[in-house]
Amino acid sequence: MVEAPGLVVAPTVSLSARGVIKRYTTRSGTVSALDGVSIDVASGECVALVGESGSGKTTLLRCFNRLITPDAGSVRVDDVDVSTTDAVALRRRVGYVMQEGGLMPHWTVRRNVELVPWLRASPNAESAATDAMALVGFGDGTFDARYPVQLSGGQRQRVAMARALAAHPNVLLLDEPFGALDAITRADLQEMFASIRRRRPVTCVLVTHDLF
Ligand code: ADP
Ligand code: MG
Repeated sequence: MVEAPGLVVAPTVSLSARGVIKRYTTRSGTVSALDGVSIDVASGECVALVGESGSGKTTLLRCFNRLITPDAGSVRVDDVDVSTTDAVALRRRVGYVMQEGGLMPHWTVRRNVELVPWLRASPNAESAATDAMALVGFGDGTFDARYPVQLSGGQRQRVAMARALAAHPNVLLLDEPFGALDAITRADLQEMFASIRRRRPVTCVLVTHDLF
């Protein structure tokens, strides 16, 4: 499916976790972050993870892009066990919006958004970034030359979303992308996210406190 000139939308994929266990050992003892968690996300579906702070949401999300290796259980992306895949290649097709955005502070907005297409040596890196910025409402270039510190919290989250989208991921993992924002900004971002999902129905796991 062609969405814009020269840009092909990546196919969506399914996700699953089966009996995932993850414990952290700290100096004060062992913390059980995930205790036999199973979840299925169908291709193109958006599943929200809702739970109290410390319930293991971030840990589960990071199992899907191999930032965390479970102690037991299996995690599959596109029906392939992620432990058998190349972690770097996996992360380039699984978009991840971290809890705090995770933008490179010493890079401009534009460079941040072009990061993954550039790492892939994509000949379409520039247009992928331009399209992604348009998707998050920053298509006029106003923010391109700014640094993350020169943005508001909501603007930073939009840029973090654009960075993930520029890679044309098969899957989007979003860790509280609307958290720590005022109510109006949060509502704006939720509307933006809904509109992006209509245009790019990518498989999503969304950690959120807002049941919208
Ligand atoms: P959530 O995202 O739902 O707030 P997390 O997945 O971040 O929860 O954390 C789940 C539990 O694991 C918490 O008790 C947290 O303190 C603990 N935890 C997370 N990361 C680590 C770590 N690197 N070392 C030790 N404990 C951790
Ligand atoms: Mg978390």
